[in-house]
Amino acid sequence: MKRLSIGSRLTLWYLAIFLLAELIFGVGMWFILRQNVYDIADQVLKDQASDLERFLQARQDVSTPELEAELSEDYKIESSEDYLQISDADGDSIYRSRFLEDYPLPPVPVDPQGKPRYENRKLGHRSFRFISKRMLAGKRVYTVQLGHPMHEEIETLDDFRKYLLGFAPILLLGASGVGYWLSHRALAPVDALARTARTISGHNLSSRLETLTTGDELQRLSDTLNEMLARIESAFLRITEFTADASHELRTPIALIHTEAELALRRSRDESEYRDALQHILVESDRTAKLIEELLALARADSGGEALNIQSLDLVTLLRESASKWAQVASLRNLQFEDRLPAAPLPLMADGSALRRVIDILLDNAFKYTPVPGKVTLSAEEINGRVVVSVQDTGGGIAPEDQARIFERFYRVDKARSRELGGAGLGLAIAQWIVHLHKGSITVKSELGRGSLFQVNLPAVVLVSAAAPPSKLNPGGEKRSSH
Ligand code: ADP
Repeated sequence: MKRLSIGSRLTLWYLAIFLLAELIFGVGMWFILRQNVYDIADQVLKDQASDLERFLQARQDVSTPELEAELSEDYKIESSEDYLQISDADGDSIYRSRFLEDYPLPPVPVDPQGKPRYENRKLGHRSFRFISKRMLAGKRVYTVQLGHPMHEEIETLDDFRKYLLGFAPILLLGASGVGYWLSHRALAPVDALARTARTISGHNLSSRLETLTTGDELQRLSDTLNEMLARIESAFLRITEFTADASHELRTPIALIHTEAELALRRSRDESEYRDALQHILVESDRTAKLIEELLALARADSGGEALNIQSLDLVTLLRESASKWAQVASLRNLQFEDRLPAAPLPLMADGSALRRVIDILLDNAFKYTPVPGKVTLSAEEINGRVVVSVQDTGGGIAPEDQARIFERFYRVDKARSRELGGAGLGLAIAQWIVHLHKGSITVKSELGRGSLFQVNLPAVVLVSAAAPPSKLNPGGEKRSSH
């Protein structure tokens, strides 16, 4: 079943509450009025009964026939009592007014202590309130029944009920109208927000919902949705830029492979020429594979799905392994390489292969961007419960304005030279992402012409989340990482 709209539900609630309130008020008022009417009638009857009691007591010595005569003449005229019946102790009637002759009252049990008893009676289509009371006059005991006509009061009560029932539908109709109007007025901005939100898609993510200034929940809702749109827009832009950059980067090696193969096949060549061509193709395809691997790593970083395999390890052992590998590279490139590693182990909770990758990226860069004769130094130390790994080189250095951007994806200071050296500008972005996953930071200090110092700072014991949220992965331009 289709659920009703909030507006309709609010209207129905409004109606139900109003109906209940009206019911309670109407029924309550009716009962109070009725009680008051009977209270007044009872008071009148009580006064009349007291008068009669005094009358009877004054005549306690008078004989019964005389009393009958006096009641029929004097008392009746005096008090114009039309609905009176008096019986003696045996239940025999002493006096009965004319009306009661026609509609005789049945005998009623009365309280022997003389407590009055009130009741409603209908006699010949007319409503009455009756008081029945035992009265003492000397030695005589009377049972007195005195009536008070109630038709006017009952008519008033009936009228009141009719008004209540007559006005109820009008009031309810009015209430539902007001409820409908109020709820729709209150919810109109929500409809407006929904209409705008429906028009926003991937093509116009820069659009924003109407900014409300009502200072209420709806303004908070529109502000929150707009903030969310801004975040989605920047994430969307990042992905678009990343895809564009990635395709551009991939196109270059593929085009080179294509050209190389095409040229080789244009005419027949000797074996060494074919070998050369295949060698170039191999180099380019290695680069392409590396690039694809880096792109995949960053895509995983963005999706937040990369889980670390955190283990307890000794950083010194890990660095020594890397150092022995890079020492060979250094000798091949005629560069000096020094490792200043402590003799004592540096225990750490970290993902060994991820950390090795960071060290490789930093050493690879140091060797790539340091001309002969130059020197690269790898060192590690523990400072205040944190482990600091430094990679220093005596290369060309990085200008301050570039230092601010080298951790961005695809950013290269000298694009052509970096490419020639096999870089796509993704290494430092990946290194930073890994360091952030370890709740650490990576910084650069560099001076043009004097070399660079990259430092990775990690907590000695890492409390690692399974994967860092993508927002922490420096999507588009964090200057230096610092936690
Ligand atoms: P790439 O794969 O191109 O080296 P990186 O993200 O590792 O990409 O580095 C980004 C840029 O930062 C490099 O293109 C280079 O211009 C600069 N860079 C990185 N490390 C050094 C360094 N040790 N000395 C000088 N420049 C560096």
